[in-house]
Amino acid sequence: MTEPNTDASTSPVILREALDMVPAYQPGKRPTPRPGVPSYKASSNENPYPPLPSVVAAVHQAGEQANRYPDMFCVDLTQTLADQLGVPETDIVVGTGSSGVLSQLINATTAAGDSVVYAWRSFEAYPIMVALTGARSIRVPLTADARHDLPAMAAAIDDTTRVVLVCTPNNPTGPAITQAELDDFVAQVPQRVLVVIDEAYLEFNQDPATVDGLATYRAHPNVMVLRTFSKAYGLAGLRVGYGVAHAPVAQALRKCAVPFGVSHTAQLAALASLSARDELLVRVKDIVAERDRVVAGLTEQGWDLPDTQANFVWLALGEQSADFAAFANEAGLSLRPFAGEGVRCSIDIPASNDLLLKVAGQWRKRQAAG
Ligand SMILES: *Cc1c(COP(=O)(O)O)cnc(C)c1O
Repeated sequence: MTEPNTDASTSPVILREALDMVPAYQPGKRPTPRPGVPSYKASSNENPYPPLPSVVAAVHQAGEQANRYPDMFCVDLTQTLADQLGVPETDIVVGTGSSGVLSQLINATTAAGDSVVYAWRSFEAYPIMVALTGARSIRVPLTADARHDLPAMAAAIDDTTRVVLVCTPNNPTGPAITQAELDDFVAQVPQRVLVVIDEAYLEFNQDPATVDGLATYRAHPNVMVLRTFSKAYGLAGLRVGYGVAHAPVAQALRKCAVPFGVSHTAQLAALASLSARDELLVRVKDIVAERDRVVAGLTEQGWDLPDTQANFVWLALGEQSADFAAFANEAGLSLRPFAGEGVRCSIDIPASNDLLLKVAGQWRKRQAAG
């Protein structure tokens, strides 16, 4: 297939200039298929386990009503979430993944001339969403141990800032923020600025000192939380997540939604997943145990890893990142390289994690041999 011509300057149609500033999303790749070599996809932080039978049954049931529009307000899912989280229904916004809610909130708060502060490197959707509204990204480098530099982020806020995005645990590096750090930070943020706590990997986080996003939202009218069914709940393919924000903010977010965006299938699957929460959390525990095994194995090989609280590990390979990812791909393991920075390796089924340990060990030996 030839590449389509995407050069905007060759089109007679007037396109928004701001789009020139929008970086392309690089989705995690599938491994290159090789006859006789088992291959694994550890490039997108997906849950390696398929949905539970009860969730698949809900998906089938929903399929029978695909001729109808879904419930635009996701009433049942909103009520169930409100009950389980102990928050008012008015404060819940269900969207097409938490990326969908993120897009709504950036649209609700920013336009050309405004700015959004976030750590870098962090979730790669952030610069895309910000650039789409014509707003400016203010990126604050992570510390040497790959954590958010919250004092520097507070200092980076200026009169144009509308939103601060705080990702904990941080994708792609893994460390979580503590409640004490976040409290100090929020105290310094003007109340007109929305603080967004992105908790996509919440369920994998075992750090007892970690942020309680909901408690922080309850305590501050300018704090909201983003959550997703894509990772721990294993519904990445159905596109459903939610935000918890104080009612006036939540109402603004709803105005920015694509009408009927969250499918009936996604709504029923999310409800079935909440009903099967305990069963799903057993899988999360297995993934966390595998993460700890991988971290121990890599550390023993001599890798210096940031403290991950998510379902991935970060190898800060710098200029060697692309080469290492290609080396792993040769062995049947697809990872997510960030050129010049590092490689994010998602925790997968044990056989795939074994392969990660194997290629990482081979790489170190090769480097040592020069
Ligand atoms: C995966 C991820 C999300 C959300 O993904 P959705 O599938 O859109 O819900 C949000 N934030 C971070 C940091 C993520 O890694």
